[in-house]
Amino acid sequence: MLDTDIFLLKNSSCSRQSRSQGPAKCIPSKFLNMKDLDFPLFKTRIEKSPKFDLTSAEDRQKYFELKAGPEIKKLREYLRENTFIVYLLGKKNSGKGTYAKMLKEIVDKDKIEHFSIGDMIRDIDKELQDPAQKAELIDFLKNNYRGFMSLEDVVAALEGRSTSKLLPSELILTLAKREIQKRGRKALFIDGFPRELDQVSYSLFFRDLVEYRDDPDVLVLIDVAEKVIDERIKYRRICPLCQTSRSLKLLPTKDIEYEDGKFYLKCDNPECSGPRMIQKEGDELGIAPIKARLDKDGILMKQAFNLYGIPKVLLRNTVPADKADEYLNDYEITPEFVYEYKNGKVKVTEKPWKVEDDKGVESYSLMPPPVVVSLIKQLVAALEL
Ligand SMILES: [Zn+2]
Repeated sequence: MLDTDIFLLKNSSCSRQSRSQGPAKCIPSKFLNMKDLDFPLFKTRIEKSPKFDLTSAEDRQKYFELKAGPEIKKLREYLRENTFIVYLLGKKNSGKGTYAKMLKEIVDKDKIEHFSIGDMIRDIDKELQDPAQKAELIDFLKNNYRGFMSLEDVVAALEGRSTSKLLPSELILTLAKREIQKRGRKALFIDGFPRELDQVSYSLFFRDLVEYRDDPDVLVLIDVAEKVIDERIKYRRICPLCQTSRSLKLLPTKDIEYEDGKFYLKCDNPECSGPRMIQKEGDELGIAPIKARLDKDGILMKQAFNLYGIPKVLLRNTVPADKADEYLNDYEITPEFVYEYKNGKVKVTEKPWKVEDDKGVESYSLMPPPVVVSLIKQLVAALEL
């Protein structure tokens, strides 16, 4: 499907009447019935739950045991003899990797692999700088790559690649196959594929390409409101020494400093000397620089949502504020941190972070663990365990 098709789809002035006279000039008929994305609410609330601190690894363990113990056991048993493939689809910066890595930690570190296409490409950049590794890579491509771009052009594209330049899908798939074979047989969470519209159909055959033919595969669609992504970027703070990432609004460190009307986080990584954390250049713009990418990701998700023949898991990050009591325990809601400077001290208070979802509904954003509970339970259902 081409971008122009999407353009037609979104901007078509075709009325119902003219469609009935013949769809030829209007929207291609296969897109007429594309359903809009619809992510149901998922209940993780348990009456009389103890209060958990979901930022603590120890508490998280107990939390998962309480909320998804039997399902985690089923997955572990299944993984003793079997594997599966999950395609993670969500907007840029929606935290796909966070969810997959948390599931891996909780269920089985050794049998699950979070496979990021972006990381793979970055590693290949490094390989290309080493002559022996480069020769090995070119040799592999000679034997395995088929596509519309010549091998010489492919290598040139890999070497001169800027992040905006597109690598052909045939190449990405060949490289993915090579990486997956290197890692040994594991359940895979594929992150970053499909990324382009032409890759949605490829994803249907992905498991054949990587020789996981008999494995069940599942699409996981993750809905995170753009306001959530925007504020995560705007309030992100990075340690200039150890690169630890926190959030002034959503995940501060223990030490907060005040100077000239502004609050600063001090890095509290025990292995770091603890300088002031800083805002990366451009982060103050939030989602503005990536808006086109987010729109494209939205169309990609809608296409995937409309695929038949592959089970889908639907995850949402926000819950309307007026439904929170019914669906969530209060500690599952992402808090917002507010600072006050008084008598030479910084006072920190916590309250539920209110944010509008993409439909403008006042909502709360979930901490990652309840989203992972929903992922585990829906995955068990999709695999029919
Ligand atoms: Zn640090």
